[in-house]
Amino acid sequence: MVEMRYYLRKYKKPITYVVVILFFGLLIFAGINTKSIDHTVYKEYVYAGNAFGTGIKKSIYAKNSGDTEDLNRKIDAELRNLDNQLSIRKTDSEVCKISYNYSAGGKYFLSSNICQYLKDELEIYKDSDGAFNPCITKLTGLWGIEDGKTKIPGKKKIKKALEQCNGDNLKVYKDYIVLEDEGMAIDFGATGKGIACDATRAILEKYDVKGAVISIGGSICVYGDKGDGEDWNIGIQNPRGKDGETIGIVQVDGTKTVSTSGDYEKYFESDGKRYHHIIDPRTGYPADNELMSVTIICENGLQSDGMSTACFVLGLDKGMKYANKKDVEAIFVTKDKKVYTTKGLQKKLRITDNKYSWEKYEK
Ligand code: ADP
Ligand code: MG
Repeated sequence: MVEMRYYLRKYKKPITYVVVILFFGLLIFAGINTKSIDHTVYKEYVYAGNAFGTGIKKSIYAKNSGDTEDLNRKIDAELRNLDNQLSIRKTDSEVCKISYNYSAGGKYFLSSNICQYLKDELEIYKDSDGAFNPCITKLTGLWGIEDGKTKIPGKKKIKKALEQCNGDNLKVYKDYIVLEDEGMAIDFGATGKGIACDATRAILEKYDVKGAVISIGGSICVYGDKGDGEDWNIGIQNPRGKDGETIGIVQVDGTKTVSTSGDYEKYFESDGKRYHHIIDPRTGYPADNELMSVTIICENGLQSDGMSTACFVLGLDKGMKYANKKDVEAIFVTKDKKVYTTKGLQKKLRITDNKYSWEKYEK
């Protein structure tokens, strides 16, 4: 501070005072800032696992493994519990028991967390004009793409299945649901991994860890920071590349879930046409528009996962409108290798594959 007083005495003009004070202020701020972040304190601990029919990768930044071992076990146990509640493939799950054993119009009690997820799903159903449908199970089962089927179902069968997928026939209350038609089922195929990200975040908050990136299939829970106070760099999968091959990097802060839906996860080809696992509930056929993938970034995992599926079905224009209306960030990758983003991501996405290019979205 001796130098500061000297400068102030020597240069007496008011503007000089302001500049000098600002300069020293910045120096002091930078000093405090670098002191409060210790880049050597936090180490990365990596764990792998399986749930929701997909691989799970956990990268956790903490002071020592004592903080992460227990956390890792807790996350695994919670994801197993959730999967056992929600999976339509597990005959013992609450969702499966109801879906294949109910009478139309009857009250069926479910754990309250499941009722809440269904309420949130119904909101996405309504907001997306039914592009996202929590009762799509009969159709996805008929196509069976996730189970490795490679045949296009007959038109009559598709029409019949469509009738059993009417989301308006699902009524959700605090701790029970009513399915108003026979042959329906409820499905968390499009939101389960996002729900798992929310559950993971709730556990992370209880532990003494600095930051983490937990990827559960197409959904990634981004939490805290590495100890450097910076945003995370999350890769966006190349929809026509190998697993892990990215087209770009997006900066994401540690409060968000990043979910991607695309036509490349599970599909078969017939007569040069791609039949994938995201079904357009209006036609009964895989969504067929200009998109290859949609990524949604927002604080709620269920919303990001559900909306990525919804926007994929809606296509670029309606999807962009929906993302803007809900104030979430979105990345749309089209079949002609153009990348469109919501305004908030314009400076946060860096394309790294020169076959793809960012385009300003104008409408
Ligand atoms: P992924 O599971 O590959 O991450 P999504 O989150 O987009 O991809 O979910 C796709 C799954 O959602 C499908 O496998 C199916 O179970 C279900 N699904 C397909 N189409 C729809 C739809 N229109 N609405 C709701 N769920 C859907
Ligand atoms: Mg989804």
